[in-house]
Amino acid sequence: MTRSGGVGGGPGANRDAIRDAIRNSFREDVRALHAYAVAPAEGLVKLDLMENPYVLPPDLARALGERLGQVALNRYPPGEPASFKQRLAERIGLPAGQSLLLGNGSDEIIHLMIHACARPGATVLSPWPSFSMYRMTAELDRCRFVGVDLRDDFGLDLPAMLAAMREHRPALVFLSYPNNPTGNCFDDEAVRAILEHAPGLVVLDEAYLPFAGRSWIGELPRYPNLLVLRTFSKLGLAGLRLGYLCGAPEWLGEFDKLRPPFNVDSLTLAAADFLLDHLDVFDAQAATIRAERARMITALRAIDGLQVFDSAANFVLLRVPDGDRGAGDRFAHLLRQGILVKNMTAFHPMLRGCLRVTVGTAEENAAFLDAMKQSVE
Ligand SMILES: *Cc1c(COP(=O)(O)O)cnc(C)c1O
Repeated sequence: MTRSGGVGGGPGANRDAIRDAIRNSFREDVRALHAYAVAPAEGLVKLDLMENPYVLPPDLARALGERLGQVALNRYPPGEPASFKQRLAERIGLPAGQSLLLGNGSDEIIHLMIHACARPGATVLSPWPSFSMYRMTAELDRCRFVGVDLRDDFGLDLPAMLAAMREHRPALVFLSYPNNPTGNCFDDEAVRAILEHAPGLVVLDEAYLPFAGRSWIGELPRYPNLLVLRTFSKLGLAGLRLGYLCGAPEWLGEFDKLRPPFNVDSLTLAAADFLLDHLDVFDAQAATIRAERARMITALRAIDGLQVFDSAANFVLLRVPDGDRGAGDRFAHLLRQGILVKNMTAFHPMLRGCLRVTVGTAEENAAFLDAMKQSVE
């Protein structure tokens, strides 16, 4: 901004100068964007973002606090946290010859992968509807994003996927497994066919692994174009911001060149390293959530007029009658009862009338179910 742009002309002129400068220097597509909206949730039962509702047991929280107190915060994080990666590789059963890349949440890794592949004219492809970040990140990096509609049962439309891959030659294919927001795992044979026919990389995004119990990590040696993306977020550590990518060291080496040097901070690394010895706590929480999910689905199916989809994740997708208006009314009714869910109706025509609700504690789920019952009476 130049000095003459009204800076000396009072507060109003100042604002105008800032607006001019933004118009002159910022990318148009960035100016047209809205910041990722996180709904205000103060005081609400929070069933919108697939968080684990449980905190750490007090003893464990105290021990973690002590451990974190020993972290040398005056120092930059380690350049290569080799011992943590080694321990993580053992815990997850990473096959020999495969590597790990750590990210500030898996969101950052999605950015890195797309950024590395974003040659002019590059395509990113995913079945659709799926995780909104695939599309948003691809478009920000000026890739073409191709979303291939799912079948009506939310399964992969394999012929359409194969045809789209032939036509668009995607550098990257993202498969959310299970798929957010539909909750299902895609058919294994269809995934294999995609791995065999993809001209580039295929990323299996296993964010919901703790609730699906199915993984492609063991297939890494068999499919050289396979990458497995995971996160600590849905396990119960969304506040930590730690994701990791598993795959051949050759691919990961390319992404690593774009990784900001200290992308995972020392407190996150120390906490994750400590918690690797206590994964049983999270496994038990995930088991409780899976049991609650089953109860929630049964209870929802007993309510007249709702269409409730199966789920291999920690959320349930359901369709209420009357499309957009029905979903809006139910969402507003739930909010008045202090319950925040996610209204998916505007995201894709296949999700018309759909709400996505995270599985919470037994009490939270009961409150949600009560409010849902009232809303159809
Ligand atoms: C929630 C989610 C993620 C997690 O992102 P983080 O940045 O690791 O919190 C990744 N992929 C999908 C499909 C998700 O739903």
